[in-house]
Amino acid sequence: MKTFLRAFLSTVILGSAAAHAGPAVLATVHPLALVAASITPTQELQVLVPTGMTPHDFSLRPSDVDKVQSADVIFWAGEEAEPYLAGFVHRWPDKVWIDVASLAADDEVHDHAEHGHHDPHWWLDPLTIMSAQAELARALDKDPKPFADALQAQIESSYQQLTGVQQRGFFVFHRAYDHWVELMKLKQMGSFTLSPEQKPGLKTLQAMRQQLAAGDVVCVFSEPEFSPALIDSMVRGLDIARGELDPMAAHIRLSEDGYLVFLQDLTERFVRCLSE
Ligand SMILES: [Zn+2]
Repeated sequence: MKTFLRAFLSTVILGSAAAHAGPAVLATVHPLALVAASITPTQELQVLVPTGMTPHDFSLRPSDVDKVQSADVIFWAGEEAEPYLAGFVHRWPDKVWIDVASLAADDEVHDHAEHGHHDPHWWLDPLTIMSAQAELARALDKDPKPFADALQAQIESSYQQLTGVQQRGFFVFHRAYDHWVELMKLKQMGSFTLSPEQKPGLKTLQAMRQQLAAGDVVCVFSEPEFSPALIDSMVRGLDIARGELDPMAAHIRLSEDGYLVFLQDLTERFVRCLSE
């Protein structure tokens, strides 16, 4: 695959008048585009899933298939998070496919498998992102070190900022944050739904209401892509703070340091709600 890319690059450098045209990079979701923007000029970067949409409710239209076809490098979250792309990996094997899920630390995957649920939202795992960005950097002949250093510093800073609220219990809207919660040693006590397309049943809702009323949950997080009506009814009358988290980072602008801005914003949202 790298040979292909080198050949592609030399063709561009030797044969084309377009001065800056590098390989076309397609990041599938906005948070991965934030990572790719650390080493890809934004004019050479496309995003597949539109802002405000999640992989949970996305399916490919013909124009999306065109986007995949015209990309040289596809930076994606793997077939569990993005089943709509799985078939294309085999259909277009000459493209450089960087599957972020496949770069997750093995023991991490193993550990989650043992517990019956493993979180496919790999863009919320900064350590996996560090490996994935390095892989993308290799494919683009760029240096991964500046990003890795800045990301390491951000991880340490986030951890520092969260010291003091790590024992404060909270609920998230859906199970998207497991990797982040684990890395930051936060006290996630539940989620309103495992996955947004699954609606919890009455028994689950009653058990949840009891847990929320017991007093160990100080904050609940909603998400901008989904209606907060369920959460509203669950916490009505209880003294629980409300926050909002966006696992798709829709409010974070695409820029070179966008992913770091995203993690800092995420950190502040946890600190704010858990301190209330
Ligand atoms: Zn999700």
